[in-house]
Amino acid sequence: MPYLIPETYHFSHEYCFFLHDLMVWMVKEGEQKRHFDVKLNPSSEETKVLQKFHGNELYEWLQENGHQKEADLLTYKQIFVATLADFLQFIFNALRSSEKGHLSVTFSLLRKPLKENLFILESLLSEPKEFLQKFNSSVSYNEAAIDKQNEETKRRIITDVLKKIPLSLMEPDFLYNLRYSKREIHSLERLWQKATHIVTSCQHYQTESGNLNFVFSDINAKKEQWRYLYFILPQMLFYVFQVCRTIYEQVITSEVIFSDESWDRALVGNMISMYNLMQDDEMECIQDQLLDIKLKCQICGKEVSLTQSMQKQIQFEGSYTCVEGHRNEFFELP
Ligand SMILES: [Zn+2]
Repeated sequence: MPYLIPETYHFSHEYCFFLHDLMVWMVKEGEQKRHFDVKLNPSSEETKVLQKFHGNELYEWLQENGHQKEADLLTYKQIFVATLADFLQFIFNALRSSEKGHLSVTFSLLRKPLKENLFILESLLSEPKEFLQKFNSSVSYNEAAIDKQNEETKRRIITDVLKKIPLSLMEPDFLYNLRYSKREIHSLERLWQKATHIVTSCQHYQTESGNLNFVFSDINAKKEQWRYLYFILPQMLFYVFQVCRTIYEQVITSEVIFSDESWDRALVGNMISMYNLMQDDEMECIQDQLLDIKLKCQICGKEVSLTQSMQKQIQFEGSYTCVEGHRNEFFELP
């Protein structure tokens, strides 16, 4: 199958995969190091009982036998890793569909991860106690679902998450409207309605007469959809990466699992992928900021300055070279 994405967006596309791979690494590393387990020092009597239980039964037993804290932590970790792993599968297939030019499939596949999974991840970071309470209660279980959240709750959680992650590059209004607004012209919700229904009648995203949503997309419409996709997705994935990394390093384990290098590359990639969207003066400002960041050569360890020519090499060749002439693949996980 040919790779159909226009060249202008190749960097952004590879960058999205890079963030995807970093998060896959996070899941694998956590499983390997058993970070998603919870330590318990049971008595020999308890050990016998514990071996019989799994899932909900185990949770209930922990609760009833004075291990509420461990029960909550176990639930928290299991929800985090399951939600993230599911998120990543959808993103992977959305990106692969984009390569084939199947953009209606791409946008349909983005709905669940960016709307539902992301809301759970944000809730875990912003209001873990409230979320677990709803999640664990048979009475209020349904209240944890996204459809049950009012606008105020969604906005409050987004605003709080932006304060907790290291670098908030988007406004709370933008993040809210993108995923939930049916009116906002740039919202994903409008596109999701169009990508998942053949004909839409809601006045805010009505199908033009004589057309069916996405089905008759000509090449110009497709280019427009790609432009939009690579405007939104790199920023959103960088946001999700920050949310997950913050949860991981603050709650899942006290170990620092990400190197500075992986953070620097995620940040540099985000800035370079923004080039497509920028006016000249904004671009100069970003280029200056990039000069403050140094990447590390993976072979000799020397620092690499991000001069303009190095930025171009990263953007067009996906690599950077140190003073010794060692070539490093930018999108290889450090
Ligand atoms: Zn080197």
